[in-house]
Amino acid sequence: MPEIVFYNTLGRAREPLAPLVAGEVRMYTCGPTVYNHVHIGNLRTFLFEDVLRRALRWLGFAVHQVMNLTDVDDKTIAGAEKAGVSLDDYTAPFVDSFFADLDALHVERAERYPRATTHVREMIELVERLVERGHAYVKDGSVYFRIASDDDYGKLSGIDLDQVRRGERVADDEYGKDDVRDFVLWKAAKPGEPSWDSPWGPGRPGWHVECSAMSMKYLGETFDVHCGGVDNLFPHHENEIAQSESATGAPFARLWLHSEHLIVDGEKMSKSLGNQYTLRDLRDRGVDPRALRYLFLSVHYRQKLNFTFRSLAAAAAALRRVDELRFRLAHAAEAGDPDAGLAAALETVRADFAAALADDLNVAGALGALFVFVREANKIVEEGRVGQGDRDRVLAALADLDRVLGVLDPAEWKVGAAGEGDAGVGLSDEEVEERISRRTAARADRDFAEADRLRDELAEAGIVLEDTPQGTRWKRG
Ligand SMILES: [Zn+2]
Repeated sequence: MPEIVFYNTLGRAREPLAPLVAGEVRMYTCGPTVYNHVHIGNLRTFLFEDVLRRALRWLGFAVHQVMNLTDVDDKTIAGAEKAGVSLDDYTAPFVDSFFADLDALHVERAERYPRATTHVREMIELVERLVERGHAYVKDGSVYFRIASDDDYGKLSGIDLDQVRRGERVADDEYGKDDVRDFVLWKAAKPGEPSWDSPWGPGRPGWHVECSAMSMKYLGETFDVHCGGVDNLFPHHENEIAQSESATGAPFARLWLHSEHLIVDGEKMSKSLGNQYTLRDLRDRGVDPRALRYLFLSVHYRQKLNFTFRSLAAAAAALRRVDELRFRLAHAAEAGDPDAGLAAALETVRADFAAALADDLNVAGALGALFVFVREANKIVEEGRVGQGDRDRVLAALADLDRVLGVLDPAEWKVGAAGEGDAGVGLSDEEVEERISRRTAARADRDFAEADRLRDELAEAGIVLEDTPQGTRWKRG
């Protein structure tokens, strides 16, 4: 197995992965604030983390991943108040929509999704430790972290604290701070807000302390990997380190991985530009989540990803090349010994794929290796060199690589199944069969455009196709 190397934001250098417990990676990933539907910028980060966990598992590690759900903070409280409902009632539909988005994009579930509101006791205990050790102080029922007490504050982001001192506006409810740079650990309750009892009176946890308390509870005071979007690097992750290490005296997370921003048509995503898409927005425009997953995979996580509808079309086209290989293999006759060229190509793709993943999760490079293989396999099919068992060997290899990519097998993706109630209405069984035989004929003529058009027409009627060696099977989605 190749040495696995990642770029560590902490220290700004590449370093080998060396888990605390051999063979097991303990990983914390900042989760969503459940006050709205997540946008595709958030989804890019969650997909990066999904491929990271899949890659680590494929490379032979056990993974223990924790992702928090921030269900109490300024935004959820404001939203619940405006809607006139309880915090739980307000956040519940957004929790559901978050998991529905993950499912639609074939994101594997983490081992745990702890919620902030059910871990307030752990957060209070952490704040108490910080007060005891002189890293925090109480003012008017709120508790603040004293940045001046932390010698290496800023080591993750490299922030210039003098800059912060000059630039920062103090929130209206934080005038009690000794120093403008100090951040809140516990907020005194305002009238009418949800609150919990604490040694400092009723209040609620600050956002940063949520992640420190929940990560250390489930992963230990020191753990292997902490991930998030680059927008959370400062102040959120910097503050997580400050709180955790000041409370325990031990190193917090050892490896910090940050995914870059997603931009849309070359511009920053923003509500005012109307380009802050959710997955639902894109599906309403007919975007296939499978193509979206592929697009996100195809750009290295430390590079900005420029989302355009043209790039989605290119992603769909790339996937069709893999689908077409499957289809052609399904119809190829097997004869004679296994092809030696194919055997070599199978070995190469596996080695190159592994090497790319081990090199700072270079999924784009891994996809490059895949397409070299697809070209090679197509050639073997075209030249009639498919030997006994070769079809299964190719399909098994694709399935193996797909444990990381989660996007290659069209049978796993129910096209158009966005929860429409009228799926399949409008086409009789005979009409479905008739279109499938026209599609089969089109594919035999290598008229893939017509074949795709028919597949799309069927998909719109809720018909799911599966191409097998015995022909095309279908069902109503
Ligand atoms: Zn966090």
